[in-house]
Amino acid sequence: NRPTIFFNEPLADFSQDEQLEAMQEALQLVEDSLGEEYPLLINGKLIETRAKLTSRNPSHKKQVVGTSGSATKDHAVQAVEAAKRAFKSWSRMDPSLRAEYLEVIASEMRGRRYELAAWEVYECGKPWADADADVAEAIDFCMYYADQMRQLTQPLNADVDGEENSYHYRARGVAVVIAPWNFPLAILCGMTAAAMVTGNTVVMKPAEQSPVIAAKFMQIIRDAGVPDGVVNFLPGVGEDVGPVLVNHPDVDIIAFTGSRAVGLQINESAARTTPEQHSVRRVISEMGGKNAIIVDDDADLDEAVVGVIHSAFGYAGQKCSACSRVIVLEPIYDRFIDRLKEATESLVVAAVENPAAWMGPVIDEESLNRINDYIAIGNEEAKPLVAKEVGKLAGEGYFVGPHIFTDVDPGSRLAQHEIFGPVLAVMKVKTFEEALDIANNTEYALTGGVFSRSPQRLAKARAEMQVGNLYLNRGITGAVVQRHPFGGYKMSGIGSKAGGRDYLTQFMIPVSVCENT
Ligand code: NAP
Repeated sequence: NRPTIFFNEPLADFSQDEQLEAMQEALQLVEDSLGEEYPLLINGKLIETRAKLTSRNPSHKKQVVGTSGSATKDHAVQAVEAAKRAFKSWSRMDPSLRAEYLEVIASEMRGRRYELAAWEVYECGKPWADADADVAEAIDFCMYYADQMRQLTQPLNADVDGEENSYHYRARGVAVVIAPWNFPLAILCGMTAAAMVTGNTVVMKPAEQSPVIAAKFMQIIRDAGVPDGVVNFLPGVGEDVGPVLVNHPDVDIIAFTGSRAVGLQINESAARTTPEQHSVRRVISEMGGKNAIIVDDDADLDEAVVGVIHSAFGYAGQKCSACSRVIVLEPIYDRFIDRLKEATESLVVAAVENPAAWMGPVIDEESLNRINDYIAIGNEEAKPLVAKEVGKLAGEGYFVGPHIFTDVDPGSRLAQHEIFGPVLAVMKVKTFEEALDIANNTEYALTGGVFSRSPQRLAKARAEMQVGNLYLNRGITGAVVQRHPFGGYKMSGIGSKAGGRDYLTQFMIPVSVCENT
């Protein structure tokens, strides 16, 4: 074993001509390749299906990005069987060799970095910097988990005279990876890479909205020479194939990231056992958030306004870590609100092929309708502060401008439901304690933040704010692998943090051996 030193992949800087041009070329290349077909891949064989999933560009809803196969229930069973067959040899492979596969996959993604980001621009409506960050995070997951796997195979020094002791890990078996569309490469790749490097074999089910970027990732895994059956690609309709995968007796782990409703359903059905089962399924479920930022009366307003805007409206609020509530202390309230309004109204909303787009569309019509329903609720139950119009863009794609509501009741739907769009609820409070109470008054516990110059209040937030990831005097999105291991608790998730040192152990069974010598 040779432990490596992990470095985060640097992010692109599109103010540099070279990087700007590279991205423009990549976007052109992707535009020229739109409309292709992407079949399933089971046991190394491409499988055409009668039913298809059509992936559309959220900025231009008539533009088809690509068409993928749509798995049937039989395909789901075949994928699990293929993964089961591949398990024996893959799980017995030297872990450092499996780590090398991840490094090869990372290297290929690094080489195709702009192209992969360009696919995300087209398929998921991600502004350039967000798309680039997602690809960088996928590379980080591969490199970090490769490094961690090597660390975990270090011998345990616990021998005593007459007794040799060892502690090692074994793979669990077949892992089902079910991913969302909002970080279409990083999250899919992170869960898959963790399952693979720990010796499990995988059935990979991407979200319906992002099968093309997932197919690109599957191709990269194949090109890296990963043996057939180790990763099987199963795009399909979650409601149809999901339950087949989750309840299959040969599935040992489910790694899910997505909404609370689906995560809880998976957790519940995976817990049911049948006589055919040989293990109790392990569920890792990363779910939603209703994240708050507290703005204290002594906060640096320059930083607070920028931090709130980036956290609330970056990628149109479609991040599980996004800020959807801001709780402001009374003495600073009016000044903060004036500046927040002005800054939000100046945001450029546009189709994201345009590098000037600060905010793009939301993912699809269903999301747009849901967000508009919450805006209607806000208009009835609270006071509108910003309602930015999108004009002609509305006919072209799934656009909704940033919205801010003030005088929001902390118990109302606007303050309690995960809207997953560019809608921010503002609340005014008299004391910092009241702010903390409101921040904690939600079923979720994912991210949260405080802008304050008071060391005592920051310390209080550290101790009392119920979130998995707390950010002080900065925005609350953009977790970086290793530096900010990511994940929540309460109704935001079960399992250890992605990109953190405990993550891989969830995918394995620890075994302790004692030999009398
Ligand atoms: P979603 O609707 O829950 O879908 C997630 C995945 O689950 C998709 O692949 C979906 O397939 C699949 N699925 C749907 N129904 C299923 C079922 N009955 N059984 C098994 N799988 C099923 O979530 P989303 O809209 O893609 O993503 C947004 C949500 O993800 C938000 O709540 C956000 O907060 C959360 N999220 C959390 C984190 C985190 O780290 N905590 C990170 C990112 C996103 P289909 O696409 O075919 O429906």
